[in-house]
Order: sequence, then C-alpha cells, then structure tokens
Amino acid sequence: MSILVTGGAGYIGSHMVYALQDRGEAVVVLDNLSTGVRGLVAPGAAFVEGEAGDAALVRRLIAEHRVEAVIHFAGSIVVPESVAQPLRYYANNVVASRALIEACVHAGVGAFIFSSTATVYAVEAKQPLSEEEPKAPISPYARSKLMTEWMLEDTSRAHGLRAMSLRYFNVAGADPQGRTGQSTPQATHLIKRAAQVALGRVPHLDIFGTDYPTPDGTGIRDYIHVSDLVAAHLLALDALRAGAESATYNVGYGRGLSVREVVRGVEAVIGRPLPVRESPRRAGDPPVLISDPSRIKSALNWQPRHDDLAEIVRSALEWERGLNA
Ligand code: UDP
Repeated sequence: MSILVTGGAGYIGSHMVYALQDRGEAVVVLDNLSTGVRGLVAPGAAFVEGEAGDAALVRRLIAEHRVEAVIHFAGSIVVPESVAQPLRYYANNVVASRALIEACVHAGVGAFIFSSTATVYAVEAKQPLSEEEPKAPISPYARSKLMTEWMLEDTSRAHGLRAMSLRYFNVAGADPQGRTGQSTPQATHLIKRAAQVALGRVPHLDIFGTDYPTPDGTGIRDYIHVSDLVAAHLLALDALRAGAESATYNVGYGRGLSVREVVRGVEAVIGRPLPVRESPRRAGDPPVLISDPSRIKSALNWQPRHDDLAEIVRSALEWERGLNA
C-alpha cells in the first residue's frame, strides 16, 4: 500500500514526502512541476509528472501503487495572482480537486488529507480563531480552498471517503536535516524574504503596513515550523487509518508575532541589524491571524516541537544559504 502525495515537489509537500519515508511509508508523488522542483522529491519516492486533476492518470496510479490515502498539496497559492486570474485558480484548485476526489471515490480510497488555509475565516472573526468562527474568504485563492473543503465534506457524507482539511497558518522554516526547503525564488513570505535580505541577496525587507491596530502597528501572524505542520498530517493519516471521522483542523501554534518581532528575531540570529524599509500595507492583508489549535491538540494529540522563532529562522537561513551557493 502507498500514499499518494500531490504537489510532493513543492515546499510543504516535499517535507511531507521525507517525513513519510522517514517512517517507512511507500510514497508516490504526483506533481506537474509548474512551481515544484524535481530535485526536492526524496530519493526513493516514486515520481510521476502530471496533473492532480487528470482523473485517468490518478486512477491508474491508485491501482498501480495500491494507494490507500491521498495527501493533496497541489494547487496554486499566490493570492494577488488569484485576484488577477480567478478562473485559473478555480480550474487549478477546485476543478482539479474535484477530479482527484472523484477518482478516489471510484477507486475506493478511504482517506484524504487536504491543504486548506487560515484565510478562509472572516476578517472580523474572533482571534485566536477556532474552527467554528465564521468563514468569509475574500480572495479567489481562499474561496477555492473553502470550496474544496465543502466538496470533501459533502463527498464524505455521501460516500466512503473520509477527509481531513488542515487550515494552515503561516508556514516557515525548512527541514532540520537540510534535505528540502522553500525554493521559489520569487516567494513573498516574510521569513523567506528576511532570509534573502540577511544573506544580502535582496537589499532590504519591506515592512508592509505600520499603521495596523496592533501594539507595534505591524501585522501579526502565527508562524509555524514546517516540520510541525507535516507532523500534523502524519497524525491525521494515522487517525484516518484508525477509522476517525472526517474533520477540519487549524494548524498553528496559537501565538502571534508581529512583523517587527520577526525582524528582531532574525536580527538576534544573525547578530546584526536587518535593513528594513517601512512601506504601505499590502492589499488584502488582514491585521491579525492567530490559530486556536485546541481541537487538533485534543483530537489528534498534536504537540508542537519547533515552536521557536530562532529555530525557524535558523533553518530557513540554512536552506537559503545552500540554494544559490
Ligand atoms: N510581510 C512584510 N514584508 C514582506 C512579506 C510579508 O511586512 O516582505 C508581512 C505581511 O504584510 C503580513 C506578514 O508579514 O503581515 C506575513 O506575510 P506573508 O506573506 O509571509 O504571509 P501571509 O500572512 O500573507 O500569508
């Protein structure tokens, strides 16, 4: 039996594949390499270049590799791009997921884990966010994720597929063993950018917005180490194998850090000031996003092991250093 990982050549997916292999699981990766990198896929995992929404291909892979569970990372993730090209996002994220889910139902695959996002919640929702807070995604990207959650909920009610949707908060850092990391050169995420600035590859870090209603005026996020996020998927997989019902979980630490706090954290690691520039708010950025992780902690016994900004920053820096070296 094996686990099918779509998007397994991407940032989070490639960490997932290593984690599965580390505990002896057989893995098959399906990735179209649009943003993924072949070299990030763990040696030993079967690799197929193709679309997660290619139902015929997926059905063949399920049969050939005796797939018992699917972990679905493949998709487009850039919010402003989704605003400019909504139909591409609905095709790539919703239509492709629909085909993948249908292939699973037809083939009798019983377990499905889906990468969702903290941006499904309403901007006015109460922080820290419990899973029950109102949903009102504002970008096509976030809507495409919530639509897929709904497809999974409806499908699991009607068919034998049990699904877990994990709503990621701000994922950062890299594999502690240095085997994979965030490799998209144009990545816009704060800790990735800060690492690029720290290494002198980018002249300065923009602080997007200093007039938010937060203690120091900058945006607050719940930054979570990619290894802890991947561990949540392993627990979800174990729970589904043991017969757990479908569920949705927030995955974040439950504490917020402002942009300035992250900057100070990076400065502490590198031992010198980070060149920053105060810039206007970025369109669509909410002031605060913090997880209430109570549900995943009690239901899946998820216990963060890398809840430490310095560790996250060090691993991101280490990976970044190796990238263009
Ligand atoms: N941010 C920033 N400068 C950057 C990138 C991000 O000030 O170069 C801020 C952004 O406005 C937000 C936080 O850092 O408050 C996290 O942004 P990121 O893009 O990492 O993740 P998002 O929360 O948008 O998914």
